[in-house]
Amino acid sequence: MTTSFKTDVLIIGSGIAGLFAALKISEFAEVIIVTKKNSAESNTNYAQGGIASVLSSEDSFEKHIQDTLIAGAGLCDYLAVKKMVEEGPARIKDLIKYGTEFTKKNGQLDLVKEGGHSVSRIAHTRDFTGREVERALIQAVMNSNNIHLMENNIAIDLITEHNLLQLRDIDLENRHCFGAYVLDIASNKVNKIVSKATVLSTGGLGQVYLHTTNPKIATGDGFAIAYRAGAKIGNMEFVQFHPTSLYELNHQIDKPSFLISEAVRGFGGKLFTRDGNSFMQNYDDRKELAPRDIVARAIDNELKKGGEDFVYLDITHKSSNEIIEHFPQIYQTCLSKGIDITKEPIPVVPAAHYCCGGVVVDLEARTSLNGLYACGEVSMTGVHGANRLASNSLLEAIVFADSASSSIKKLIKSSQISSIEFPDWDDSGTLTSDEKVLLTHSIKELKNTMWDYVGIVRSSQRLLRAQKRILNLKEETEILYKKTKVFEEILELRNLIQSAELIIFSALFRKESRGLHFNIDYPEKDDTKIINTILRNESL
Ligand SMILES: Cc1cc2nc3c(=O)[nH]c(=O)nc-3n(C[C@H](O)[C@H](O)[C@H](O)COP(=O)(O)OP(=O)(O)OC[C@H]3O[C@@H](n4cnc5c(N)ncnc54)[C@H](O)[C@@H]3O)c2cc1C
Repeated sequence: MTTSFKTDVLIIGSGIAGLFAALKISEFAEVIIVTKKNSAESNTNYAQGGIASVLSSEDSFEKHIQDTLIAGAGLCDYLAVKKMVEEGPARIKDLIKYGTEFTKKNGQLDLVKEGGHSVSRIAHTRDFTGREVERALIQAVMNSNNIHLMENNIAIDLITEHNLLQLRDIDLENRHCFGAYVLDIASNKVNKIVSKATVLSTGGLGQVYLHTTNPKIATGDGFAIAYRAGAKIGNMEFVQFHPTSLYELNHQIDKPSFLISEAVRGFGGKLFTRDGNSFMQNYDDRKELAPRDIVARAIDNELKKGGEDFVYLDITHKSSNEIIEHFPQIYQTCLSKGIDITKEPIPVVPAAHYCCGGVVVDLEARTSLNGLYACGEVSMTGVHGANRLASNSLLEAIVFADSASSSIKKLIKSSQISSIEFPDWDDSGTLTSDEKVLLTHSIKELKNTMWDYVGIVRSSQRLLRAQKRILNLKEETEILYKKTKVFEEILELRNLIQSAELIIFSALFRKESRGLHFNIDYPEKDDTKIINTILRNESL
């Protein structure tokens, strides 16, 4: 039996974006947060470096705006960047008010510099900033009487007019989101949560790829859910790959690859092929210190040329003490896997890291569906354009979560919770254990296809090949989905496939190379085509 919950605001996801939005909204309304695992399991929890903002007298809004625009390779939305930068300092103060303890030096925030930033402006908590932010926000949420947090609840689909026979024909421009169908994993029951406003803050999609720094939750649910409901999705071709994640022979495909921070190269780390040849001088004068996308492409090329699975990053020429002092977490993690980085090189491989595109929103974090908001990595606000500047994503998440809150405050004053009787979820069906095994195979096939054909360096032929394979997987999975009672793995597989399809569509659409998207058939930037790739499910 389906249970119906009603609330002012439903928030889907408990990373920095969802928790921050919940805290802001709880000042004037009742909130339910649903999150598919435990509340802390999120990309946020893994963020190491920190959060960028203009917090010192040597910095200025103009400098941060310029750095962001340069990284974005011509596709940033200037007003969105300006908003993020100008509202950043106030939102960092909010984080501190909610209990985040940033690292300090002489009583002031210890601001550090990262690639692409012209000034030291990254606030951090040693090398575990995300974990500290997540801890503080969860604690603040627990202290609020207006927020009800439902763990192990996975959103399946949004409730919109297309769930109602009598309203199904309403055109896409006038559709509303009335809440969501949510699977309670413990009881295996699908419930309805009806709300005046819904905030999608489901994070990224790194799990689409074989190698990713993203945890298991990053299965692209929000992109797929929004697309299925008819919301506009943009710029999905711009997936950022981190050049150096730890390569492990027995890599479990749903586990994140451990990030070997850029700071190791900044500290003098050198890249070598397995047969001992340095190669970065062949790609860029800045060698190992070239920007992330150039280093990732160079490694990818060397791997393809040599048919190898990894290259080496070597820091052994530095003193052991210095290495251990600068990189305690990296040292310990590698040591636990049998690699002493003070004595031997680290095997590394690029890994999918961040999705710059997403659900299209305006400056108030409103999507193209009435009543549906999006913030954090799942959204496309326009601040990243074709490439994200390091440490801007946590900032974007809190600035636009705050905007969503202000906009929702206006919206819910004048709106009622819908009194329409939405249908219960059709929960019939079964799946045999044989069929469950097929899901594991499908996930492997998807990840390998995306890694081999839709990775760092693309070609039109590879993209078309990937499109065919993904379409096959989609058809097979839809057949299983239709005959089964829903469960977590099939929902995630379906969302992974949908997200992969969106990336491929967008990549095929862009007939140039720009920012993170590189196609050998169109290797140049084409400034006559400075446009966003916008997709919408017209079949509804
Ligand atoms: C290793 C690593 C290091 C990083 N370092 C930095 C950094 O230094 N600085 C920076 O700015 N950015 C960094 N990033 C990027 C940044 O961490 C993320 O972009 C950001 O944390 C995203 O926050 P979010 O709230 O949008 O999503 P997340 O933090 O990923 O949260 C998403 C939430 O949604 C839930 N969810 C997903 N699908 C569903 C569903 N169907 N139903 C219910 N719940 C669902 C998840 O369980 C999770 O709670 C890093 C990322 C990684 C992986």
